[in-house]
Amino acid sequence: MTPEEISALIKDKGITFIDLKFNDLPGLWQHFSMPSSELTGVDNVAEGGLFREGVGFDGSSIRGFQQIQESDMILIPDPDTAVIDPVCKAFTLSMICDIYDPITRQPYSRDPRYVAKKAEAYLKSTGIADTSYWGPEMEFFIFDDVRFDQSVNFGYYYLDSIEGEWNTGRQENPNLGYKARYKEGYFPVPPHDSHQDLRSEMVKVLMGVGIGVEVHHHEVASGGQAEIDMRFDSLVRMADKCMMYKYVVKNVARRHNKVVTFMPKPLFQDNGSGMHTHQSLWKDGVNLFYDPKGYGLLSQLAKYYIGGLLKHAPALMAFCAPTTNSYKRLVPGFEAPVNLVYSMRNRSAAIRIPVYTDNPKSKRIEFRPPDPSCNPYLAFAAMLMAGLDGIENEIDPGDPVDKNIYELDEQEAAKIRTVPGSLEEALNALEEDHDFLLKGNVFTTDLLEVWIKYKREKEVEPIKLRPHPYEFQLYFDL
Ligand code: GLU
Ligand code: MG
Ligand code: MG
Repeated sequence: MTPEEISALIKDKGITFIDLKFNDLPGLWQHFSMPSSELTGVDNVAEGGLFREGVGFDGSSIRGFQQIQESDMILIPDPDTAVIDPVCKAFTLSMICDIYDPITRQPYSRDPRYVAKKAEAYLKSTGIADTSYWGPEMEFFIFDDVRFDQSVNFGYYYLDSIEGEWNTGRQENPNLGYKARYKEGYFPVPPHDSHQDLRSEMVKVLMGVGIGVEVHHHEVASGGQAEIDMRFDSLVRMADKCMMYKYVVKNVARRHNKVVTFMPKPLFQDNGSGMHTHQSLWKDGVNLFYDPKGYGLLSQLAKYYIGGLLKHAPALMAFCAPTTNSYKRLVPGFEAPVNLVYSMRNRSAAIRIPVYTDNPKSKRIEFRPPDPSCNPYLAFAAMLMAGLDGIENEIDPGDPVDKNIYELDEQEAAKIRTVPGSLEEALNALEEDHDFLLKGNVFTTDLLEVWIKYKREKEVEPIKLRPHPYEFQLYFDL
């Protein structure tokens, strides 16, 4: 949409407010609203208004952004992202913004959306492909709202946890009727699946804001673990959709006194929430990952892309699995990947080649380590840069591993690289290995330094300093 079309829309529909949204560095939407007359006022429209001049905000109060002495920043809405806000009660037009420096009028280098835009531009500049397509499978948990008592999550407590029991505080043992026990949520019909209608409502709202949805279902874990899969889209557009997805899913749940979390591993001994990311490269409308003669119908180019993802995977995890909690998910036994290998159907491999169809348009790879605590703009950009590095340097990913990795003999198993064991290790890996991200100035050294410092100071160290509830179980009586 053009700015003029937006103004016309506001007038025709009688829209009262405009809501401007943008990302902080860790990946949470921030926003503020203004009366729509601020946009449709004669001066604004005549001179390009909001879409040219933007509107100021205090960058020093946003996580990962500016110092106090240089805090003024500018937001400029992207008219292509305009939708009627599906959450606000007042009739509100929502737009996602890009962030600019008010002095230089240049895009702000720590704006995650700008990083994603630069990654798309870099892809085009290589001539390898013109478009990348992204299909993230975002999983999440639905818990009862205020009664969710985080203090009882000591780990050992959940061994016999069943949906609807521990999180409401009701003690129904031994009533196990129609409860999704841990690791048994995939996927009996209602009443076992007690969130069918809630997920359907989420999907309807998503479709109402123009997000294509392919499927929704209960996931493996108890506690109402859910998955709603969006139809694939290009990089920036899909990252925008991921933000809207979280916004819709959390708010629809809230309407029903439920609370949604995208925390990767909320429950001990149950599956965590992943964000497997399907990806492919296209040129002139042709899928470059397809070759009818290749392993899993994959082209040589796709194999090099895999080579890049696997080579840089430890560093990539600093963006794709960027919380301390992410590494409680990335352990054997819960369908989360641990091994840095690829395979057609092996779900313990970091990269799976879906083989449900031989349609060339569907050929893609699924990178499984990411989880939904990531900032999708940064995670997608980083994955694309790793894959492209693989193509540019013809990085051979080696042979696929189609056997059950847990049954390999010791010698074979020892040769297999694994994902980092902690956020700390992932940040160290990023510190060592990041040249592939700096190409085309997609990530800047400043952004990488801020990311690593932020994650160490705000997450890794504070977690280390706090006595863990389970330490009380182990040590209190010593
Ligand atoms: N929940 C699993 C994970 O953490 C994935 C389950 C699936 O295969 O969809 O990655
Ligand atoms: Mg899943
Ligand atoms: Mg998957």
